[in-house]
This record gives sequence, structure tokens and C-alpha cells, in this order.
Amino acid sequence: MQSSELPVLKKARPWYKAIYSSVLQQNLRRLDVAFKNFFDGRGYPKFKTRQRFKSFSYPPNQVKLESNKIYLPSIGWMRFFKSRNIPDGFNLKTVTISLKADGWYVSIRIENKDVPQSKPKDLKQVQAVVGCDLGIKKLLALSNGELIENPQFEKRQSRRKAIRQRRASRKKRGSSNQKKAYAKLARIDQKIVNQREDHQWKTAHHLVRLADVIVLEDLNIQGMIRKCRAKQDENGKFLKNGQSAKRALNRLIRDCSWGNLTEKIESVAAKFGSICVDVNPKFTSQKCSHCGHIEKENRNKERFLCLNCGFLADADIQASINIGIKGLKTLGISQSKLLMVNQKVTPKPEMTGSSDREISVSLEIEPGNPQQLNLFEWVNGEAIPC
Ligand SMILES: [Zn+2]
Repeated sequence: MQSSELPVLKKARPWYKAIYSSVLQQNLRRLDVAFKNFFDGRGYPKFKTRQRFKSFSYPPNQVKLESNKIYLPSIGWMRFFKSRNIPDGFNLKTVTISLKADGWYVSIRIENKDVPQSKPKDLKQVQAVVGCDLGIKKLLALSNGELIENPQFEKRQSRRKAIRQRRASRKKRGSSNQKKAYAKLARIDQKIVNQREDHQWKTAHHLVRLADVIVLEDLNIQGMIRKCRAKQDENGKFLKNGQSAKRALNRLIRDCSWGNLTEKIESVAAKFGSICVDVNPKFTSQKCSHCGHIEKENRNKERFLCLNCGFLADADIQASINIGIKGLKTLGISQSKLLMVNQKVTPKPEMTGSSDREISVSLEIEPGNPQQLNLFEWVNGEAIPC
């Protein structure tokens, strides 16, 4: 209905005339999607002024492509940097132009009906399953003993960002110099996002290459970065509640952007027909994957030592094994399919029967090679490698 009212609207708002009519219609379609999302319980659409529009799209069959030139109706032929070729036999579908801090981007959706859609693999054909534990120091710990680094892109740029932020805030308000300074600041943020996304795509592809089924934990990230509750004494005076320390942790959590990572893993998995499962991470860091004993004291920072059976492992890898096992149970696949690292079980003194030998185990993670675990046995105060 609104689409048919567009000619009337164009008279009331003359600046609409400069915009290509299909683009306006496409925008109404976006609004429709926004309202559909709202009725599915995903928040009310946000009103956008002209300044807040960062992108617009053309419907299928309106945009033409020729080597590194693109024809945008009512704008004309334009040159663009062609980052990748469009494969033969594909039709151009919706084309979206968006403005980012470092320039204009064009995203082209393509379709070829002859290419069969990838179907999810049959559960009986599953060869390998991998469990993943999300973390801050290590972005991912995999059940096969692999640790994927967290490059902390935001933290790396934090000094430069603070400098540019300060410069921008000292410029005269509303001046063009201030505008330029803020544009420079925005380019850093753009760079951080680009770096992070690149790393996430590579991680997602690595996981899909590794296993047919990927088990992820279902984290409540919103709950994790919630502010600390305000503390007051009896006179209503506010006391320290640890929020300043929490703020630093929240910043680190946000820098990981686990939500975006899991989204990418899910999309890459769907593309290659792999299966992605979310499991509740409750007790996965406390439970012993060897005997099933649950105790809070099992875990000591990066070390996991089962107080029941003496199973020793890297805490994150051990959690990822538990996550993998949980995922296998929900899918009903046998546990032998889980990619698992071989880990050592050091029996407790009561089990070996000798009481004069005091055994405790220490775990050392070499700084250069985080996967190497060195095990020591303490015999009469001396460390003996075992
Ligand atoms: Zn145990």
C-alpha cells in the first residue's frame, strides 16, 4: 500500500525525487522485514533520519557489471575495486551499497539455481566431532587439544584510539576539523572490525575443515557484561562495588565478540553441510571428563586436576571435551567420534597405596608453546619429570 503512495509522497517531500524509485520501494521492503522481526519478538524498528541511513539497495536485474565498472541506475557507471570475480552462470540479485568509515562498499548477492543446495550431513555419516570452549585469553579451546589465539584487536589499538578520541574532543564543536578528527577515529574502529572479522572467518573455516559436527556453548553474553549492582550503606551513601574492575573485563569480553564468531561458524557450517549444536555450558569447567566427578576445586585457573581420580589437563581443553560430550549426547552419537587429546591420569596417593610418597602434580605451560604440557611428580620435595 505504501509503495503505491510513493508518487504522492514524492510531491510532499521533494528530496525523494533524487532517489531512484526502486531504491525507495526496496526501503519499504526493509521496513517490512523490520516489522516482521518485531512481531517475532526481536525489538521495535528504530526510526531513521536521513543522516542515519548508511546503505541502500537495488532490486534484482537493475544493476549491470562490466569488468571493474558497475552501473547503478540514476547514479551511472562507476569504477570499483573488484575484490573477487563473480563465477560464471550466476545471476545478480539484490545489490546493496553501504557507507563505511573508509569509503563506499558494494555487496552483490548472486544466485545460480543449477547449483544444488548443501544439505546437512546424515548423523550416521558423522566421522569427527569437535567441542569448543570460548574464552578470553584463548579465543577457542578445542577438544583435540588445539588452542586458538585471541588477537585482542581492540586492545592493540586502544592507545591509538584514545589519542585520536582526545584530539577529536578538543576540536571546536561542529567545526569541519572536528568532523575530520572523528572520521579518523571511525577509521580505527573500522580497521578493528575488519581484522576481527577476517580472523573469525578463518577460524570458522578451520573448524568446519576439522570436523563434521561442531559443538559450541550457549553463553549468556548479555548477562556476563551486566553492570555490578550498586552498593549502599545505611545512610544511602554509595560504596565501591567493583564496577571499575568489571568495566575492564567487560571490555575484554566485548573484544572477543563471541556472538559474531558463533554466527560465522554456524553460517560456514551450513554452507558445507556440517552440523552446529549449542549446549548449556553449566558445570563444563568443573566436571571431570574422565570420571564425571563435579567439584568446584577441580579447577585452579588454567589447570584442571580432578580431586577424585587425579585426571590432569588444561582447564579450557578439558571444558571443551565436556562440551563435546554434551553435544554428542543431545545428538545421540557414540563418544568415540569426539576428537580428543590424550591426557594423563595421575592416581592419588591413596590409590597407589604408598603413604610415604607425597605426590602432587604441577602443570607448566611453556610460554612459547602453549600446547606443551610438562608433568612433574614431587617426590620428597624434588620435582621429577614423568
Ligand atoms: Zn576424575
